[in-house]
Amino acid sequence: MDEFYQELIRKLSGVGINSPRLEARLICAQATKSEPSQLTFPLTPQQKAEALKLLQQRLNHKPLDKILGHREFYKSDFLVDENVLSPRPDTEILVEEAIRLVEQNQPIRILDLGTGSGCIIESILAECPNAVGVGVDISPKSLLMAQKNAEQIGVSTRLKFIQADWFDRSFVQKTAQTFDLIVSNPPYIPTGDIQGLDPEVKNYDPYIALDGGADGLDSYRRIAELSVHLLKAGGYILLEAGIGQALDIAGIFQRQGFVLKQIVQDLSHIERCVILQKPVAEIKKDGI
Ligand code: GLN
Repeated sequence: MDEFYQELIRKLSGVGINSPRLEARLICAQATKSEPSQLTFPLTPQQKAEALKLLQQRLNHKPLDKILGHREFYKSDFLVDENVLSPRPDTEILVEEAIRLVEQNQPIRILDLGTGSGCIIESILAECPNAVGVGVDISPKSLLMAQKNAEQIGVSTRLKFIQADWFDRSFVQKTAQTFDLIVSNPPYIPTGDIQGLDPEVKNYDPYIALDGGADGLDSYRRIAELSVHLLKAGGYILLEAGIGQALDIAGIFQRQGFVLKQIVQDLSHIERCVILQKPVAEIKKDGI
């Protein structure tokens, strides 16, 4: 095996990186501007210098996707930077379940609360050609990234963005429409747990995309209130859940009159996706 490549693997595994071989390959591919599968060794001195620059960032625990500037999620490649939560494989479950629920050619309206990179709603729109969507985020910079991704993936004509804080009292008026499907991967880490997260997460994912308040459930309580107003009768809500939160989340929504349809596990058998439905009979709209 190439000596330089081997050295990268050794250094990456020395700081506890889980897939050092894969990451070393991706770093070399970026440094040589080649496809990972087409990589050839040895690298030129200039390419090695570039690879070492990228390696240094990774040794400081910057996530690889944020070094490379993009990441595969579901079936597309998404641009990412420090302004968005890195798309996670766990979240693909939510996309899969949404696509399973939606009849593919239905002209439905989808709302994504906390869009970030846009990976959830854009992956769904890419599979559902007659659906339209609204992505909401508090961060203007993340919306710029989501917009670029929407253009790259070819869903920008069916996706609008709203820059807003969904905790604002005027949020429902601002949205001014109802939806067939609400999706969200909201911030759900209890505030006190953030310092204990991996450096890749706590130092490089936006804090506002992580902090779920004292018990991690603040966003779910708010989304339940909002869904009373923003979701059509019979519509579905699909939420990502943090570890151990699924039943608490279901309870929050059940107390507002929603029906728990399913809790879906991710590949690590963590209850990751909570699916709820608004009953066809109207829920009483008060308390917002
Ligand atoms: N999945 C992230 C993590 O646990 C958290 C994302 C979120 O709060 N929605 O690292």
